[in-house]
Amino acid sequence: MKINFIGTGSGVISSNRFFTSFLIDSNGYKLLVEAGDGITGILLARNIDINQINGLLISHLHRDHAGGFEGLITQMKLRQRKLPMKVFVQNKIKPVLELNLLQSYIFPERLGFDFDIVGFEEDQKFSISESLFCKSKENNHLLKYEKYKSDEKFIISSSSFLFGEDGLNLFYSGDIGDIKDLLLFKDEPVTHIITETSHIKIEQLIEFLDNHYRLEGIYLTHIPEELEMSILAFHKTLNDDLRNKIVITSDGMNLELKS
Ligand SMILES: [Zn+2]
Repeated sequence: MKINFIGTGSGVISSNRFFTSFLIDSNGYKLLVEAGDGITGILLARNIDINQINGLLISHLHRDHAGGFEGLITQMKLRQRKLPMKVFVQNKIKPVLELNLLQSYIFPERLGFDFDIVGFEEDQKFSISESLFCKSKENNHLLKYEKYKSDEKFIISSSSFLFGEDGLNLFYSGDIGDIKDLLLFKDEPVTHIITETSHIKIEQLIEFLDNHYRLEGIYLTHIPEELEMSILAFHKTLNDDLRNKIVITSDGMNLELKS
């Protein structure tokens, strides 16, 4: 499994880091994970052909994760895409994305390529491609909005994921609500984790992961500009074993994960 970090920043716009997003390449199948506001321009600037991306997975509807969705599909149409495109989102989110596309005057039958939004449940295993599967779990990231839920049209949905390929199990936490969200896949043979540094203190994060998992790699993303220096400084204080496992990601970074 190859990972290309498109963006590694937090939800606050920054000139060094785009919003957190990455491309997984699993035996040639390209899955984009997260499509924040401005994703299409960033992909083009990185020489990534948006028409060669096979699928998109979105964890939740905050603009730094989903704000570029309609624009991305629009640009695929305008750039005469022919390959089929699948979007994977939790079932609750699906009608929101469908309506947003419609209200961007994007009609599936006018796209010129097969387009499918595939819904999954809060806790479900599903196939992304022949070699890549995914498990979803609902996390607590949006719990703070529960009090606004008087209108049934108001959707609260945020997922964490486990990606599996040939003995390799990559936990992508997405944005979390609290540290307990990092236990969502504690019963799985997690080998690697991509997690965030905006909603949890780095010291607490590393100690917790070290106590609960036997990980080969820890990839830190969603890095707030104002915390970057302290995250780098903390990394230097770790023992060799931990320090070698932890990667503070940066935009454009490429990784090859092996089981
Ligand atoms: Zn968020």
